[in-house]
Amino acid sequence: MTNPFKLLGISDDVVNAVKDLGFENPTPIQEQAIPVLLEGNNDFVGLAQTGTGKTAAFGLPLIELIDFTTNKPQALILCPTRELCLQIASDIKNYSKNTPGASVVAVYGGANIMQQLREIRNGVQIVVATPGRMLDIIGRKAIDFSNVKYVVLDEADEMLNMGFQEDINDILSTTPDDKKTWLFSATMPPEVRKIARNYMDNPTELTMGTKNTGNVNIEHEYYIVRARDKYAALKRIVDFNPEIFAVVFCKTKMDTQDVAENLIKDGYNADALHGDLSQQQRDKVMQRFRDRNMQLLIATDVAARGIDVNNVTHVINYSLPDEIESYTHRSGRTGRAGKTGISICIINSKEIGKIRQIERIIGKSFTKAELPTGFDVCEKQLFSLVHKVHNVEVNDGQIDQYIPRIMDEFAELSKEDVIKRFASLEFNRFLEYYKNAPDLNATADDRGDRGERGARGARNSDYTRLFINVGSVDEFTRGDLLSFVCNNGKISGKNIGKIDLKGVYSFFEVENASVDTLFSNFKDIQFNNRGVRIEKSGDAAESTSRGGGERRGGFGGGERKSYSGGGERKSYGGGERKSYGGGDRRSSGGSGRREGGSSAGGGFRDFSGKPREGSGERRRRS
Ligand code: AMP
Repeated sequence: MTNPFKLLGISDDVVNAVKDLGFENPTPIQEQAIPVLLEGNNDFVGLAQTGTGKTAAFGLPLIELIDFTTNKPQALILCPTRELCLQIASDIKNYSKNTPGASVVAVYGGANIMQQLREIRNGVQIVVATPGRMLDIIGRKAIDFSNVKYVVLDEADEMLNMGFQEDINDILSTTPDDKKTWLFSATMPPEVRKIARNYMDNPTELTMGTKNTGNVNIEHEYYIVRARDKYAALKRIVDFNPEIFAVVFCKTKMDTQDVAENLIKDGYNADALHGDLSQQQRDKVMQRFRDRNMQLLIATDVAARGIDVNNVTHVINYSLPDEIESYTHRSGRTGRAGKTGISICIINSKEIGKIRQIERIIGKSFTKAELPTGFDVCEKQLFSLVHKVHNVEVNDGQIDQYIPRIMDEFAELSKEDVIKRFASLEFNRFLEYYKNAPDLNATADDRGDRGERGARGARNSDYTRLFINVGSVDEFTRGDLLSFVCNNGKISGKNIGKIDLKGVYSFFEVENASVDTLFSNFKDIQFNNRGVRIEKSGDAAESTSRGGGERRGGFGGGERKSYSGGGERKSYGGGERKSYGGGDRRSSGGSGRREGGSSAGGGFRDFSGKPREGSGERRRRS
C-alpha cells in the first residue's frame, strides 16, 4: 500500500523520516494543506489550532520546494516564542534528516547570538526565528534574505498580541516581493486579516473546523466556587484526576508563583513558568514538564505560548484570561495530535458572563461541573490504586527473595483480608485528609460564605456529626455500629441520630449534650486489632462554628508528619522530595505504562506522604 504522505506528493526521503516519527497518516490539515502548498505558487492562510499537525503541514512542502544544493536562506519561518521556535526547528530537522544538504537554524532571543551568527555564516536554507532576534541579526547585516522564496508566519495572532507587528513589517521588507507568504493562525481577529490583506496576493484559505472554533477534541467545563475556595477547588480537581498532567493558567506572575509554591508545599508535583524566571530556569521547568517529571505546570499566558507538549490531559484556567481570545490558546495546550483533553475554568459566580462570551468565540458550550466531594475523591483514588496494583510490573528476580518472609507475615490473614489492608493503606490516608472536606460548590447566585454557614448551622443544631473509622467492610450493620458506639461510649441509643454507614468508615449523629461523654469514654477502643477513632466531621465542625480550628487540627502538620512516617514511606521508595521525580516513577511502576503512551503520566505522583488540602488552604482560612 502506498504511504499516504507519498500520495500527497511527499518524496521518499521525507516520507521515511516522518515514518520514523510515527506519523502513519496525515492529519486533516496536512491532508488539505500539503497538496496546495506543494504547488509553491500561492500565498496561503490556514486557520488552525496548535496541535493539529500544522508544523508538518507547512514543513514538509517547504522541504520539497527548497533547493538544498545551495546554502542560501530560502525559507523564513517567524513564530512568537523561543519555545515554539526551537520546536519548529527541531521538527523540520527531523523531517529533513534524510535530505542531503538540508540545514535549519533556530534564531531566538535569550541565547548566545554568536553561535546563531556562526550557524548562519556556515550556510542555511531554512531560518526559524522569533521577530526580535531576527531583526537584531538583520540589523547586523549578518543575513541575506534576497533568495527567500517562502515566509511562514506561524501563530500570527499570537505574534500580533505580543506586539510584533512592526518587527514583522521590518523583517518582511528585507525579503523579495515575489516570495510566497503562508500564514497560520488559531484565530482570525481583524489585525491578522489586515496582514493577510497587506502581504498576500489572493491567498488560498483553509479553515480547519469552523472559524475560531476550538479543537473538537477538547471538552470545556466550568466550576463555580467562592473566591476563597479557589485553591482548594484546584486541589480537589487534581486529586479527583489521579492521572492528571496539566497546565494551570494564572493571570499574573505573582499568582503563578503563589499557586505553584502552595502546591509544592502541599505535596504536589508542580512548578511555575513565568517571565520573571531566567531563560535557563524556564528551560529547566519546561524540560521537567516535557519529561513528565512534573505533573502541574503553573503558567502565565505569555510564558506558556508555544508550549508543545503532547498528552496534556487538562488545561485549568485558575483565572480567566483578560483577553477572551487567549482562551483558545490556553485550551489548545491540551487535545493535541488527535488526543482528547479537558479545559476547566474555576470561576466565581460573577464570571458566568465571561464563560458565555468564550462560548460564543469558540462556538462550543461549556458543561457546568460539580466539584467532587471529599469522599468521591477517596473513592477515585482508591480505585486508581487498585488499578495500579493490578497492572504493576512485578520484578520477579528482585522480589522473589522476600516472598517467603512476606507470606509468613500474612500467614494468619485470608486473601480478602490482605487485599483489604493493602487498599486501606492508601485509602485511609486520603480519607484521613478528606473526611472533613467541605462542599466547595457555590451556586450562581451565591452571595458569600456567611449565609451558607448559617443555614447549615441551623440545620444541624441539635446534633453533632461524627466520623468513625469502621464501616461495612468490617461487616458492621447500622445496628452493630449503634451498639458498638453506645457500649464503648457509654451513651444511650436514644442519643444517636442518623447513621451513615460507608465502606471503611461511617458517620453518625450524636446529640450535642452527649458528645463530651462519648469522647471521654471512647478511648483506646480496638476492633479486629485496629484502633478505632471517633472524630468530629467537617459538617459538624462548621455547624458549631469551630470549623476553622478543627480543620487545621485535622489536616495540619501533626497528621502530615504521621503520614510520612518511616516504614510506610520507605516502602514507596526514596525520600519525600525524590518521590516526585524519576525515582518514584520507577518505584510505583508508572513509567512503563507512561512510555507506552496510553496514560498521561500514571504513577508519577506519590501519595504516600502527601496530604492534599494542606498549608495553602489553611493559610487562606486562618
Ligand atoms: P503541531 O500542530 O505541528 O504542533 O503538531 C502537534 C503534534 O502532532 C506534534 O507532536 C507532532 O509531532 C504530531 N503530529 C503531527 N503530524 C502528525 C501525524 N501525521 N501523525 C501523528 N502525529 C503527528
